[in-house]
Amino acid sequence: NCNKEQVINIIKNIASTMEKNKEYLTELDSAIGDADHGINMNRGFKAVVEKLPEVEDKCIGTILKTIGMTLVSTVGGASGPLYGTAFMYAGREVTGEKELDLTDIKNLFRAALEGLVKRGKAKPGDKTIVDTLTPVVDYFKSSLDEKTDNEILEEIVSIAKESMEATKPLLAKKGRASFLKERSKGHLDPGAVSCYLMIKEFAAVLK
Ligand code: ADP
Ligand code: MG
Ligand code: MG
Repeated sequence: NCNKEQVINIIKNIASTMEKNKEYLTELDSAIGDADHGINMNRGFKAVVEKLPEVEDKCIGTILKTIGMTLVSTVGGASGPLYGTAFMYAGREVTGEKELDLTDIKNLFRAALEGLVKRGKAKPGDKTIVDTLTPVVDYFKSSLDEKTDNEILEEIVSIAKESMEATKPLLAKKGRASFLKERSKGHLDPGAVSCYLMIKEFAAVLK
């Protein structure tokens, strides 16, 4: 389960991991993009944290929607509207004051992926954020009855890590990296990495 304080902590921790990994993500983006992914993510989540006090008393759905709108309006790059839409879709899944149970969490992830795909039209294997998130959503669709919460949290982190690492040999089909064609191979996708970092922070707070 996940209550509002935990949601707020997840967001704050994502913001600090984006700050810590600003250079790393930017370096990854300099290989196959325009060297700004870390800058974009850090700017976006800094703005999100500044906005939090205004919405902390509202319900989780509203908080998530506000995060999404803030990312869309503060991040210039492709990743802002993409992650922004993902958070807005996730926010629409939950209404009212109750804390999130596993079913809500599954729905949030599914909706986030739906938003991401609606906005960016990427398929798994296109070397994008979608590559990290899709296997996690698929895992949530499988039968988890026998598993403890901690097992589930550990498994989503290792699934996200593996799928992020699996973007390295891929040829990019979407975004700036796709302009490089064959030369996009042999590099991790920056967005797949930032998505993994988010999932890691999500799991760390709930463990
Ligand atoms: P920009 O490419 O505009 O500079 P960023 O550098 O912040 O934006 O983000 C780049 C990341 O966005 C890529 O590494 C990729 O993961 C992701 N991305 C780009 N286009 C798409 C898309 N259509 N669908 C999903 N993710 C995408
Ligand atoms: Mg970029
Ligand atoms: Mg850019």
